[in-house]
Amino acid sequence: MSSTPVPDITLNNGATIPQLGFGVFQVENDEATTAVATALEVGYRSIDTAAVYGNEAGVGRALAASSVPRAELFVTTKLWNTAQGYDSTLVAFDESVGKLGLDYVDMYLIHWPTPNRDRYLDTWRAFEKLLADGRVRTIGVSNFQPDHLTRLLEHTAVVPSVNQVELHPYLQQGKVRGYDRAHAIATEAWSPLGQGGELLEDPVITEVARAHGRSAAQVVLRWHLQLGNIVIPKSVTPTRIRENFEVFDFELTTAELDAINALDRGGRIGPDPDTFNQG
Ligand code: NAD
Repeated sequence: MSSTPVPDITLNNGATIPQLGFGVFQVENDEATTAVATALEVGYRSIDTAAVYGNEAGVGRALAASSVPRAELFVTTKLWNTAQGYDSTLVAFDESVGKLGLDYVDMYLIHWPTPNRDRYLDTWRAFEKLLADGRVRTIGVSNFQPDHLTRLLEHTAVVPSVNQVELHPYLQQGKVRGYDRAHAIATEAWSPLGQGGELLEDPVITEVARAHGRSAAQVVLRWHLQLGNIVIPKSVTPTRIRENFEVFDFELTTAELDAINALDRGGRIGPDPDTFNQG
């Protein structure tokens, strides 16, 4: 497939990222190869992995085997917490691109701020060097709260292009999204489907899904897209991989968006970035 229905989002340094991508958290190497191959066949062009997922090599094998030109792909990986610091970041980056089998990655993210470690400023300076050296197209952060971003902006030169955070109808992240918007940082939603839990059975979501003849997952993805979020849903099931991509031929009404907006309840699934210092 050479054309794609997925809109591009232009980032603050002029790079573009597909608004819908494919995540591979908790997918081991061989399964990642199969899942990414299916995603590329379906039409996804953006793949989100991380050093700590342990599947960069598996992702890389699918990229190498695909006929999609490198320039059409958008590959994101993330620096794990234990590698934070200037020199250790440069070493970890080389390991990641080596496993992926790439010369450059499209986006490199600091996975967590880990505030007790207090190394994200030095880590970011290494990210700035990777950007200046042309080894990454754009650099960003993940799980950064406004306080962490404020400190980063005060002490470093390049404004992150993306902040990837847990975000779904039960955790709408109004404060983080507002901060990101005010600083020209794009917000990317991880666990956009709430990891497929009770969110997909919420009566508000299933009622909207019924009205459109769509699945609950498609309605949640549509909500993200209409809000302007970048999304990276995960699945290893081919029918779901395809279903999650078929979200560009219907629209939610303002009333439906409002009904989903009203589901916000601070329902965090993953760790709290202010207190997560592991790794
Ligand atoms: P998700 O919200 O994408 O949910 C994935 C789960 O939802 C699947 O395992 C499956 O059980 C279910 N599902 C998927 N499609 C479905 C469908 N069409 N119908 C019914 N159920 C469906 O959760 P996630 O994997 O945690 O997040 C997505 C991606 O975000 C990850 O793969 C990873 O790339 C990224 N992520 C990043 C961080 C971070 O700290 N930066 C943390 C978690 C995840």
